[in-house]
Amino acid sequence: MSDILPGPRVHPFSIGAAPALVVSDGPLTLAAPAEEFDNAPADAVTALAGRHGLPPDRLPLAQNALVVVLDGRPILFDTGTGPERPFGPDTGCLIESLALAGLRPEDIAAVVLTHIHSDHAWGLVGADGGPAFPNATVHVAAEELAFVASAPSTGPYIGVHRAAIAACSGRLRPFDIGGEILPGLTALPTPGHTIGHTSYRVGEGRDAVVVFGDLLHHPMLAERPDLTYRYDHDRDRTVVSRRALLARCAEAGTRVIGYHFPWPGLGSIVTADESYAFVPD
Ligand SMILES: [Zn+2]
Repeated sequence: MSDILPGPRVHPFSIGAAPALVVSDGPLTLAAPAEEFDNAPADAVTALAGRHGLPPDRLPLAQNALVVVLDGRPILFDTGTGPERPFGPDTGCLIESLALAGLRPEDIAAVVLTHIHSDHAWGLVGADGGPAFPNATVHVAAEELAFVASAPSTGPYIGVHRAAIAACSGRLRPFDIGGEILPGLTALPTPGHTIGHTSYRVGEGRDAVVVFGDLLHHPMLAERPDLTYRYDHDRDRTVVSRRALLARCAEAGTRVIGYHFPWPGLGSIVTADESYAFVPD
């Protein structure tokens, strides 16, 4: 797809008076849509995917990380897959994307995580195995952190998730979900994909942007919010969280950014028929 291209990329914009960027970690390709969203008949999922320009045999996703400068401090939302490029040579280019924007890893003052999965948190580990963002505090829901700490070590990627957290020990700032975690930044609980999955509202009023991580992996899920991802921790909670935030964003006219939406992932949610639609900027 032309809108999910490899290579470092930067999209400058603003959130109210705050300068902002979307930086790409490169595309990530999953299996067939009907395999990934497997709680509906395969032919219906494939047809829906086709209407959204997706092929039937694979699910190409972008990886759009937000940077917003609040009070002169660059804040990064999610960190991509990391410099070892574990998901292929097209992934793991977030540091290069930041460099295109003139930002060095040590300039990042805070990292805010939607959840601790490898495509969002592995980038906390630098090429030398140390912290990728040495001066950043790392903010994540306490419930998410506790789950990663206590999950059986046989779980998929759990070693990676723990390594990501270990790379920023001492600078972790777990928060209890709900409310402002930094000035101008509010945590919105959206559990389901993971136990402590968190969305964020940056800014206020009509200028605000909601960062919703993996609450929806693709715009087609705005049309079918009942479709769930095969690795969702709790599918029922995913649907409840998704419907609630879609309704809130549609009603308020709030802009959103989808981490895996076609580059750069910015747009708004509108009501459409009995459901919703994502309208890119
Ligand atoms: Zn993801």
